[in-house]
Amino acid sequence: MRIGVLALQGDVREHLSALAAVGADAVRVRRPSELDDVDALVIPGGESTTIGKLLVTFELLEPVRKRVRDGMPAFGSCAGMILLADRVLDGTADQIGIGGIDMTVRRNAFGRQVDSWESDVAFDGEPLHAVFIRAPWVEQCGDDVEVLARAADRIVAVRQGSLIATAFHPELTGDRRVHALFVSMVKEQAT
Ligand code: GLN
Repeated sequence: MRIGVLALQGDVREHLSALAAVGADAVRVRRPSELDDVDALVIPGGESTTIGKLLVTFELLEPVRKRVRDGMPAFGSCAGMILLADRVLDGTADQIGIGGIDMTVRRNAFGRQVDSWESDVAFDGEPLHAVFIRAPWVEQCGDDVEVLARAADRIVAVRQGSLIATAFHPELTGDRRVHALFVSMVKEQAT
């Protein structure tokens, strides 16, 4: 079982080491052939508009969309959450997404109040320290979407089938529970 980290922009290295810390074989994905070699994909935090444009440049947009449609597990943090959303508010005019999760996210939603902040969120019933950087929130989600965490009365982590997304950055803290959850989802799917 091998997990790819989309390595076009953003905190790629942090996701690679978080995945390695929970025992996963994690590799960078920058080409379609590298995507073919992984069982799951992490889409890192960074800048969703930039990652979207680079997905087109690197001829990865359609291949990633297809893998997600075909059931490949994926985990997006922050910009990655925006990319996995079916609908985006406050995007740029040319905002490009992958989609997959039946949700509407608002880009830079908390950012209008404060750019970067930290908070403990209840994740699976246990407190988890979460770092938010110009984070989106989930404004609306469909019936098939399970809410995993809220902060400031907003939905900040969700799961739909084999897709998970967090508005915060689990790759930037030492707490590996979100990565561990993702790896266990990938293992389940593989068996
Ligand atoms: N605001 C960024 C975006 O729109 C996301 C920020 C982040 O990933 N830290 O993509």
